[in-house]
Amino acid sequence: MKKPSIIIVGSSNTDMVIKSPYLAKPGETILGGTFFMNAGGKGANQAVAAARLGGNISLIAKVGNDIFGKQAIELFKKEGIDTTHVFTDKKHPSGVALINVDDNGENCIVVASGANAALIKEDIESAKDKIANASIVLMQLETPVSTIEHVASFAKVNGVKVVLNPAPAAELSDELLQNINIITPNQHEAGMLTNTVVDDVDAAKHAARILNGKGVETVIITLGANGALLYEKDFFTEIAAPVVKAVDTTAAGDIFNGALVVALSEGKTMKHAVEYACNAAAISVTRLGAQASAPYRNEVADAPA
Ligand code: ATP
Repeated sequence: MKKPSIIIVGSSNTDMVIKSPYLAKPGETILGGTFFMNAGGKGANQAVAAARLGGNISLIAKVGNDIFGKQAIELFKKEGIDTTHVFTDKKHPSGVALINVDDNGENCIVVASGANAALIKEDIESAKDKIANASIVLMQLETPVSTIEHVASFAKVNGVKVVLNPAPAAELSDELLQNINIITPNQHEAGMLTNTVVDDVDAAKHAARILNGKGVETVIITLGANGALLYEKDFFTEIAAPVVKAVDTTAAGDIFNGALVVALSEGKTMKHAVEYACNAAAISVTRLGAQASAPYRNEVADAPA
């Protein structure tokens, strides 16, 4: 039987990572860090994470007509991702992210969006049949919000479940929120979306209620090493993260989202899917890199149903 398909709309970047004892402060230069280059971008990270966990993934993204873009497409193909709708832009370079990671696994990231910012709603036309027949659409905010809004409303009309990982943090229209079934902010993003400060579980519950009140059925707030808070049908579930030694939390949220949609597309309950996502993300923080840290299906403990 053919696996239900998952559409991921989002960014593809090349991450240039420097590891250093602590994060550079404004005006400061730090010597002695190690450098490595990695495929990244929230859309691509989530697509690779979901593909490694066994999802049937089509990525809708845009890269530049350069070596980074070509490498990214090759990598997606190797991961088994359908790249039919990974477009090559002639005007803009591929997206690049400069990432500084410290010895505690904390990070600081600056992104030059390049071609990602040129993924416009007209690009979606050729993918509409695929979207209408998908089980889930997963998006983030590193590509233009007008494109995200367009896909969300098209998916909703066609009865396709929409998951939005609202990262990086941004304000969103009520109309977009009403077209989303599941939203997955981290604490900072949840605070930004609700004009509150989310610094503990009670504050996360308050934010979840506000988002639900704006029309999002299911709210999942990720809480770093503390796991995640799930809110649906007036009911809160706190899901603990496995205890691990974090070396690099880059892309933890991406691995979480990739795993979440795979579990949901396979018909798991929401709680089970969040537990599975926590298990996958916990593995990723024990490894360096973004896509490089994404675990394979046989590595992730399945959660009880
Ligand atoms: P990032 O920006 O680092 O990709 P994020 O800020 O989007 O991550 P977080 O809430 O920090 O999102 O982490 C996402 C998920 O990753 C958490 O819900 C949790 O399941 C897992 N995770 C993050 N940090 C840890 C950790 N130190 N130990 C175990 N799991 C973790």
